[in-house]
Amino acid sequence: MILVFLGPPGSGKGTQAKRFSVDRGIPQLSTGDMLRRAIASGTDLGKSAQEYMSKGSLVPDEVVIGLIRERIAESDCRNGFILDGFPRTIPQAQALDALLRSEALKVQAAVLFEIADGVLVSRLTGRRTCLKCGAMYHVETMRPRKSGVCDQCTTELVQRDDDREEVIRKRLAVYHDQTSPLEKYYREKGILQSLDATQAPDAVYASLSRLVSSG
Ligand code: AMP
Repeated sequence: MILVFLGPPGSGKGTQAKRFSVDRGIPQLSTGDMLRRAIASGTDLGKSAQEYMSKGSLVPDEVVIGLIRERIAESDCRNGFILDGFPRTIPQAQALDALLRSEALKVQAAVLFEIADGVLVSRLTGRRTCLKCGAMYHVETMRPRKSGVCDQCTTELVQRDDDREEVIRKRLAVYHDQTSPLEKYYREKGILQSLDATQAPDAVYASLSRLVSSG
């Protein structure tokens, strides 16, 4: 099962991907998490990615394609995986198709998390993230058990640099400009499935489970 989760920042695709990954026993591959880990470890890749990420721009295609190429070759991906935040441009989608084709594989479904921009700004400004395990919380709607600390790994939660309002607006513009053309790309392949991402997390998860089992 190879799934692409598509949607603007803050649409809940990361949260849903984590839950789906645990339930189905297939890994969640988040290029955003991979890049944040590279930044935290101070690698050259992390240093160059940070310049783009802090401004809300996309990291160059060849960098993220390289990360995904290496990651999907790992053994835990052999029964499938969920791509969360990749592809984000048409060239990335084409590179993914080529990579999968060479292994006689293909994307089973691209799930579009539909939600209006207005809702996203408040979701993202209140978001708090664990940079160690990638878990996400919200200061009002999804609080951790202990304030400021990750429930899963007890690491201190932070507000991501790019979850500040001016950067959020840029990320949304980048989404509409560079990523939303993927909706047409996957619709034309007959594998686009949309869900209403304004619903509460459990309801979104129920929609997701229905879509994937009927797809
Ligand atoms: P995310 O955690 O998915 O919201 O990603 C955070 C940031 O990482 C984005 O705003 C981009 O700067 C960068 N990034 C993550 N995934 C990609 C991708 N597939 N292509 C380019 N840049 C990416």
